[in-house]
Amino acid sequence: MRPSGPVFPRYRPDGTVGAAFSAYLHVPFCVRKCGYCDFHSLAIGDPRSDPDGPAARQMAAYAETVREEIRRTADAMEPSERVPLETVYFGGGTPTLLPPATLAAILDTLGTALGLADDVEATLEANPGTLRPEDFRQLREAGFNRVSLGLQAIQPFLLRRLGRIHDATRFDEAVRDARAAGFRNISADLMAGIPGQTPRHMADSVDRALAAGVTHVSVYSLTLEPGTPFHTRYASRPDALPSEDQERAIYRTAMDRLAAAGLPAYEISSAARPGFRCRHNEAYWMAEGYHGFGPAAHGYRSGIRYSNPRDMDPWRDRVRQGAVRPEDDPDGVRINRDEAMDEAMWLGFRRLDGVSADTFRARFGTYPEERYGDRLRQLLRRGLLERDGAPDPAGSYRLSGLGLDLANQVFLEFV
Ligand code: SF4
Repeated sequence: MRPSGPVFPRYRPDGTVGAAFSAYLHVPFCVRKCGYCDFHSLAIGDPRSDPDGPAARQMAAYAETVREEIRRTADAMEPSERVPLETVYFGGGTPTLLPPATLAAILDTLGTALGLADDVEATLEANPGTLRPEDFRQLREAGFNRVSLGLQAIQPFLLRRLGRIHDATRFDEAVRDARAAGFRNISADLMAGIPGQTPRHMADSVDRALAAGVTHVSVYSLTLEPGTPFHTRYASRPDALPSEDQERAIYRTAMDRLAAAGLPAYEISSAARPGFRCRHNEAYWMAEGYHGFGPAAHGYRSGIRYSNPRDMDPWRDRVRQGAVRPEDDPDGVRINRDEAMDEAMWLGFRRLDGVSADTFRARFGTYPEERYGDRLRQLLRRGLLERDGAPDPAGSYRLSGLGLDLANQVFLEFV
């Protein structure tokens, strides 16, 4: 039930995080594992080939537990802490392996237990080819209003190299079906730095995504994560991967092309048509609170960054014991005021708008300049930051063109 009295604040008086206005829900299943991926997900094959088989049963058990986790979380909160969610993000894994009715039931549980804001942004990650037209319709009716499709690239040899199971035609169909079902907000993920990829490949992938009608694109770099087949294959053959300069050229190609088409970058990896930024990710970059549901999910509220057990059984045990508060995570980290300020800086610099001095002051009662003056001046001198023309100390800071290329050097100053 929604609180009728004053609601728990977004930030506590010292600026640390209070209530969670967002929720991330992790769905840990994929048809098979992509060679580069170290996200927590179980390769279960295609559950639709056997609707009563073990994979389908495993997913049903997961759905039951995640709904219990949501309900128990709400029950363990003060009524004033149950603020309506402004953004909800179902990620994974491949959330769309769950039947649409199950996804709808989970979203409904979030609404009943915690409440959804009238203008909630409800995103579903989907792999092209995992949803039929009627599935999109059912999901739209259930309240999802944003789809994020993992395209990565359109060239068959690059998709094969990544171990992806779709092709570009399936992506086109997915965007078409999503739009026909009433989804206006559709995002595509693209990948930079795939072995054998060139700027031309990226340009063609961007063009295909734009032609399909997406309103948002994220461009991620391929990273070699220890323990993945990609790491085994390429760690000793760095020459098989695009060099740093080549990767930057691929990334730049994507961002320039997107900007020219009316989707300017608003974050290091993200570009959107006006009005179509990902509000959920913006909450992360503003270092705001969010719930984490499902195995391996991370959350942040009441000043604590916490995470759920990675594996299904320990996660289920913890839910059944009712150990669902941030304080129940033995490895949870209390973020104090100084650390919260640091986070607001380095996460804020991911956004091309940068760190607004007024917003920072409204939260922490002090200007960035008052706390970080030396560091900011040094980064300005090195040409990594630029600031607007407001008089000191009210100026806002953002990454310069050089700073975008060397963003990690800026982040390190605040981590
Ligand atoms: S589909 Fe996504 S989550 Fe699943 S293995 Fe591939 S990259 Fe990882």
